Amino acid sequence: MRTVTSMAELVDVGSVEDFPVGTAKRVAVGDQVVAVVHAVEGLFAIEDRCSHADVALSEGEIDGCTIECWLHGSAFDLTTGQPLSLPAITPVFVFQAFVTTSDEGDRVLIDPSPVAHAEPAPVIFTQSQTPRKGISTMSVLKITDLHASIDTEAGTKEILRGVNLSIESGQIHAVMGPNGSGKSTLAYVIAGHPKYTVTSGSITLDGEDVLAMSVDERARAGLFLAMQYPVEIPGVSVSNFLRTSATAVRGEAPKLRTWIGEVKQAMKDLQMDPTFAERNVNEGFSGGEKKRHEILQMALLKPKFAVLDETDSGLDVDALKVVSEGVNTFRETSDAGTLLITHYTRILKYIKPDFVHVFVDGRIVESGGSELADVLEADGYERFTNASV
Ligand code: ADP
Ligand code: MG
Repeated sequence: MRTVTSMAELVDVGSVEDFPVGTAKRVAVGDQVVAVVHAVEGLFAIEDRCSHADVALSEGEIDGCTIECWLHGSAFDLTTGQPLSLPAITPVFVFQAFVTTSDEGDRVLIDPSPVAHAEPAPVIFTQSQTPRKGISTMSVLKITDLHASIDTEAGTKEILRGVNLSIESGQIHAVMGPNGSGKSTLAYVIAGHPKYTVTSGSITLDGEDVLAMSVDERARAGLFLAMQYPVEIPGVSVSNFLRTSATAVRGEAPKLRTWIGEVKQAMKDLQMDPTFAERNVNEGFSGGEKKRHEILQMALLKPKFAVLDETDSGLDVDALKVVSEGVNTFRETSDAGTLLITHYTRILKYIKPDFVHVFVDGRIVESGGSELADVLEADGYERFTNASV
């Protein structure tokens, strides 16, 4: 280790009080940016830039003698600067920090010459998430004689006209119907969109009245809606959005260390480019990217029931396969129930529903197994639309 020969070589970066325990703060030491980290274990100084990307480590989470890049999850040993987890593979510089007592109180001093790196430590690869069969108790989402209307300039229009549907954990129900039959309305009513008024009937989740819950409460109760037309959220990155959503749904912020790993794995499963996490939500997303983002949310939020409204529309075959795989994995690993709303039968080549419901004119007119989808594929909706008149 280098020995400091003169106090004059050290750079005063502030009072000890400027660095409370549990915090990290960026300071300038000459022309270098240094993160002064006050961990429970002591005061550390480390180059304030992740060796993987230009991200300030001082904004990361401190855990023991490590600090973790908040964006990509690489943790570094504060004593050696060695990376402990991917994606970083090279060390960052560490500096010696001193505390001296002077007339102005206790001061933090940093030696501007970095400590020579210790022997490269082996990189510890973070384990990818293992699939979990999380929900052991069976849940039921039950829709009974649901009627809903919307206020338009031309007056009140009834759209849902007596929907009955019961979905259990682990089941995939496909609701298929022509455009304008009210499929999206059904999804919005389940999610609690204020535009629609439920005039009669009920929706319950394990006996709890869903219609009495706010949109937030529904999400916390385990309902998830992937919209047909997702909105753009300028200025909010995917990474931030996902963590905020997860915090809202779980009631506490997910631990950064495991969260980054979860996000990365989920993105990999959906064959998404890692840079996607830094883009603004839905801004300039292609149709396929929007849908993947929705499935990514679902994979991370792990709802009890997911309502996917035309997740297949606007996707090319490759994207359709990836999204379908995402839905299938979600079902296999979480035991959740899925309501898959679609106009076309093509997604059903990749996702095998347990039940198919034909939805016409605001209600289910016929239910069956996946063979019903074959009938629709061959004959279209005509038989059912005529029957409903
Ligand atoms: P789908 O998803 O099956 O195509 P929607 O639920 O979007 O059907 O729409 C059902 C019916 O409700 C359509 O006739 C549509 O025009 C009408 N509708 C939906 N939203 C509104 C709205 N905001 N104002 C007026 N009519 C609406
Ligand atoms: Mg629709």
